[in-house]
This record gives sequence, C-alpha cells and structure tokens, in this order.
Amino acid sequence: MKRARICLLGAVVTVVLATGLLAGCKARLISRDQEIKLGRDAGDDFERKYRRETNPQMNALVRAIGADIERAAEPPDYPYDYRVLADNTTNAVAFPGGRIYMFRGMIKTLESNRDKIAWVLGHETTHVSRQHAVRRIERQLGYEAIIALVLGKSDAGRVASAVGSLVLLDYGRDNEYEADRMGMLYAHNAGYDPTAAVAVLQTFQEIQGREPNDLAIMFGTHPGNQDRINHARNYIARMGWSGKY
Ligand SMILES: [Zn+2]
Repeated sequence: MKRARICLLGAVVTVVLATGLLAGCKARLISRDQEIKLGRDAGDDFERKYRRETNPQMNALVRAIGADIERAAEPPDYPYDYRVLADNTTNAVAFPGGRIYMFRGMIKTLESNRDKIAWVLGHETTHVSRQHAVRRIERQLGYEAIIALVLGKSDAGRVASAVGSLVLLDYGRDNEYEADRMGMLYAHNAGYDPTAAVAVLQTFQEIQGREPNDLAIMFGTHPGNQDRINHARNYIARMGWSGKY
C-alpha cells in the first residue's frame, strides 16, 4: 500500500517534471536532418519564384563573405549556403537548416560594402544558428502538418510554399535583437567592422521614410529602426568595439 502510494507520487513528480522540461526547453519536434531538407526544398521553391542572380561578381561576393561568417558562427554545424536572388527589393532571408538568400536590391543598397554585407549575412545566419527559423515553423505550420512532416507523409509542395511565405515575415522583437547582436559578433569574429550595423540600420531608416516599398520586412517595423539603432550602439559600447561607421 505504502509502496503503491510512493510509486504514484513518483509518477506524478515525473509527469510534472517532464511537462516542465518540455515547456522550459521548448523541445524540438523537427530533427536536424528534416530541418535541413525542409529548408532546401523551400529554398528551391523560393528560387522558382524569385530566380537566382546571374551576375558572377555579386554571387562571388556573397559566397566569399558568407564563408567567412560561417566560420565565425557558433555552433557552425549547419551546411550554410549563401545565395543571391535577382530581385530589386532590399531584403535578405534565412531558411531553416542554412540556406540564406540576399536579394540583389540589398547588395545595391549597401553599395557592395563588405562590412555591411557581412553584418546582414551575420544577422540572417543567427536566425539559423539560434534556430529562430525552424522554431517558428514548428509554431506556425500547425500540429497536423508537423506530424505529417515528422512521419514523412507531408505534402512537400504545400509545406515548401508555406515555409517560403514565413521567411518573409520578421521574427519578433527578441529574435531580431538577438540576430542584430550575434550578427555583429559573427562579423567581428570574421574580421569585419561590426559598427557597419549602425550604418546599415540608418540606411534602412532613410529608405523607410522615402520609399518604403523598396524595403522588405527583414528590416521592417518590429522592432522599429530607431530602437534597433540604439540597441546596436549599446551593444557596440558594451563590447568596446570601435570602427569607422
Ligand atoms: Zn531578422
């Protein structure tokens, strides 16, 4: 009798602990391999819509800076792949698992400046390395779609296009701030000037005031640009970095 009661108590404690752990750790549903495959499929689908850039200099620039950022990213355990899209919007997006796209319009807006491109790629890389991208998909895709995906029974085309529209939305305040900070850290660790972040955010602020349609959501409204500039400046001061921007 006593033993049964202890067992029952043990079971209750276990359930409570497990529930607490799951809530606390936000346990992952999608495995790393599934995440990578999902990101690649969705990226391929995205490319059919936006087309790859054919300018070899632009592609080489983004690939080379991306390779530097990848080495500086921690943990560097995703197969990062930095590509350019032939679209004139000022934007960059990250797919889960490591596929990262910079739009041609972003490179033009930043006048091919390597420090600035390094920070934008660092920002997008953080959405992958800190799993903002895959966690959002787990939250947004819906229970049934996730189960189907995990069981390998999903409608790949439908999932790819759902993921492709999610990457165009911002990740919310905390994740964006984290991506801003980690992007600076990755850029710094890769040998670029992290203070370029402030110059990039100021440029977006100008475009937003002038031609908001040329600026996509990556640097949209949440959090506001002035808050992000202040946040970036505070982080630079805290890290003791000095730079030319
Ligand atoms: Zn972002």
